[in-house]
Amino acid sequence: MADALTTRGLAVTQLEQLPQVLPTVDPELGAHVHAQLTSHGVEVLTGTAVRQISRAAPGEGGRLRVEAAAADGAAVTRHADLVLVVAGVRPDTSLAADAGATLGIRGAIAVDRGMRTGLPDVYAAGDCVVTHHRLLGETYLPLGTTAHKQGRVAGENALGGDREFAGSLGTQVVKIFDHAAARTGLRDHEATAAGYDPVTIGAEADDHKAYYPGSHRIAMRVTGDRTTGRLLGMQLYGHRHAEIAKRVDIAAAAIYHGMTVDGLSDLDLSYTPPLGSPWDAVQIGGQAWSAAAGHG
Ligand SMILES: Cc1cc2nc3c(=O)[nH]c(=O)nc-3n(C[C@H](O)[C@H](O)[C@H](O)COP(=O)(O)OP(=O)(O)OC[C@H]3O[C@@H](n4cnc5c(N)ncnc54)[C@H](O)[C@@H]3O)c2cc1C
Repeated sequence: MADALTTRGLAVTQLEQLPQVLPTVDPELGAHVHAQLTSHGVEVLTGTAVRQISRAAPGEGGRLRVEAAAADGAAVTRHADLVLVVAGVRPDTSLAADAGATLGIRGAIAVDRGMRTGLPDVYAAGDCVVTHHRLLGETYLPLGTTAHKQGRVAGENALGGDREFAGSLGTQVVKIFDHAAARTGLRDHEATAAGYDPVTIGAEADDHKAYYPGSHRIAMRVTGDRTTGRLLGMQLYGHRHAEIAKRVDIAAAAIYHGMTVDGLSDLDLSYTPPLGSPWDAVQIGGQAWSAAAGHG
């Protein structure tokens, strides 16, 4: 939204109570996102919690007054014509609950892998249901990609089919002006909490051969299991023309199929200098992980 509103010509201040923006990725990549926002004129205040939004007094500039507190307690005040509150997603499941459906994590409707709610002939899919995660089990992960897959399963089974939702890896990507940030699978602390023995490293590679004009650096975070060598997660940040979304999808496919990090280097990925390298960026990230973790 900071990107969209800035592009629309509005002056944007982004207030974030956590120490970094985009806390769904590691701080190393969050710092890139922060820099990208500020380089396009967005004022970014991290560690700043909004306390109150009130109508501004006449002449204060802007219709609304936003009062916040910085981490050190210092008062922060901004005036604005529009305040966009981004407070997360909560499933509204009262209708299903009243009908007798069982609720699971975060109050989402409990469903089996066939998207059955347990109520006769009632299937559910999307933001209102718990999501099976391939590495974590039951989670709440409201994403459009997930909703489509679950809806297909629910629809097919409602017509007498026998399809199962294979599970999410939380794969996601976001555009920030000229750049993109993406992740799939688990970050280090998530893997630890799930009982894995993770090693996470940072790596960088070019999106295509640097001697060919227009190449971009890609920053990566690679998480794998120290014991088994299995790929658990990958995060990428780079220019929007650096195929960040499709590169995270390579990692998503690899995690889906239980590949090791070392195994990434065996994938027969395409190459021509204007578009790639003999070792793709995700393979270079994998090789950096293998060297650090003593695998492969
Ligand atoms: C700003 C924004 C950006 C997003 N970007 C992405 C993205 O880039 N990638 C991604 O994967 N996901 C994204 N998502 C998430 C994605 O949009 C949702 O996960 C997805 O739309 C969920 O699908 P759904 O069918 O469960 O719910 P919805 O798409 O919300 O559809 C539910 C529908 O049910 C209707 N409805 C609700 N109650 C009733 C009722 N009582 N009677 C009749 N109809 C009712 C609603 O009006 C709505 O049309 C984004 C979400 C938002 C809000």
